[in-house]
Amino acid sequence: MSSFTYQFDTPSYKGTSTVSTGLFINGKFIEPVEKGTIEVVNPVNGKIITSVAAGTAADIDNAARAARKAYKERWGLKVPGVQRGRMLSKLADLLEANADEFAALEALDVGKAFRAARNGDVSASIAALRYYAGWADKIQGKTIETNEKKLAYTRHEPVGVVGAIVPWNFPLTMLSFKLGPALAAGNAVIVKPSELTPLTALRLCPLFVEAGFPDGVINVVSGYGSTAGQALSEHMDVDKITFTGSTLTGRKIMETASKTNLKKITLELGGKSPSVIFDDVDLEQTVKWVSHGIFMNHGQACTAGSRIFVQAGIYDRFLKAFTEHASSLKVGDPFARDTYQGPQVSQTQFDRIMGYIKSGKEEGATVHIGGERHGNEGYFIQPTIFTECKSNMKIVQEEIFGPVAAIIKFATEEEAIEQANNTVYGLACSVFTRDIDRAIRVAHSIEAGTAWINCHNSSELSLPFGGYKQSGIGRELGEYALEHYTNLKAVHVNIGHRL
Ligand code: NAD
Repeated sequence: MSSFTYQFDTPSYKGTSTVSTGLFINGKFIEPVEKGTIEVVNPVNGKIITSVAAGTAADIDNAARAARKAYKERWGLKVPGVQRGRMLSKLADLLEANADEFAALEALDVGKAFRAARNGDVSASIAALRYYAGWADKIQGKTIETNEKKLAYTRHEPVGVVGAIVPWNFPLTMLSFKLGPALAAGNAVIVKPSELTPLTALRLCPLFVEAGFPDGVINVVSGYGSTAGQALSEHMDVDKITFTGSTLTGRKIMETASKTNLKKITLELGGKSPSVIFDDVDLEQTVKWVSHGIFMNHGQACTAGSRIFVQAGIYDRFLKAFTEHASSLKVGDPFARDTYQGPQVSQTQFDRIMGYIKSGKEEGATVHIGGERHGNEGYFIQPTIFTECKSNMKIVQEEIFGPVAAIIKFATEEEAIEQANNTVYGLACSVFTRDIDRAIRVAHSIEAGTAWINCHNSSELSLPFGGYKQSGIGRELGEYALEHYTNLKAVHVNIGHRL
């Protein structure tokens, strides 16, 4: 079976990583039926790192068969929750033991700074697996009072076979956020990583075996969205799709589910999150959080605080301090110790973001800083701040998914709320003020699944995460996510009621 070995010799990490590049079905790596491959590109220089298997509908079908068999014969409720939890815990331990290698692969494949990948992506993945390991034996129904002649209770049964379609912005973390609750609840899983960033999902496969998951419980089929992804969402023997990615693809998955077996879906989609900054803020802290809100992961986050509303009284001071902060962010080699921002993930994303910057200029916004490519090769873009933005501009309405902030001045609280809600999205928001009454009032008034007060992109595994409006359906994380990975059964036991 083909594999790829990479020798990392960088200031942040030295070591060798070997990744099998086939499809992981029924506990082993195999070749795809149609023998196609996908080139994996290094976003630092546009060069090909390796190729991985391009799975197609036939491979998805094989994976679905393996997953169903495993689910029926050696998984699901056949394996007590405490044992499923132990395997998830072991997987978390194994990931932790190899954390630096996973961070290096993520830095290589996605272009994110090694430090951010290690302390953010990989740590969050380990924590998510541990968090759901704890839930595996605590997924409980209720007994429900009816009458003397009946015992009635509910059970939360696994849905069966889950298809997990994962994006490229947080490949390992989004995978862990899906594997954790799916496996804790007793489902078998077919993972479709993004064609842009398949390496960490493939590297994880031997760890599934080592952690003790039976063959076929977790399958990984790399492939393109329009072939493997589409086949997974069409498959009649897949019971649920959990998806993170663009709103466009989310719509397709919903449509496909409605036309096939009405499989359950949870969709975690795009955003255009507002940060609302009032006159009375702690300026230094606000600048740091707002910067983290938009520039974290090079702006490639669905929760990116890309619309920044600033009250008139603090506008000039905020803009000056925010500009200084953004200008100090080091853009460059993901493995350099002081790098904050690496390249965007792909040529397509680079072109898309530069297209938005062009449209911002054409529509009359002002590039306050940035707006250009950084360096001569790879997909680097300078942290960019637009001022003089109007609410109807594309850069204010559409998800850019890059390091591009649009700043808008406001006068009153009512105006800020109205503008913050002037979007088709509703994923997250942040409110910055020292006035606690106002903070809570505004947080409650913005239509979004997450409201941060005096912080942004400060996530917790135990809290539900998901969107209002066109930002999605359902919730990931916390106890709430488990609802989406279980079927609820009501059991009626007759105690001597005779007809
Ligand atoms: P995408 O939605 O096309 O891809 C996400 C995943 O869906 C990938 O694994 C892809 O292979 C798969 N996919 C694509 N078409 C599919 C189909 N028809 N059926 C099933 N699966 C399919 O996202 P993208 O093209 O990588 O990025 C485009 C834009 O999406 C970004 O610029 C950004 O705005 C948004 N995005 C959002 C998130 C998020 O976290 N919300 C993540 C990635 C991308």
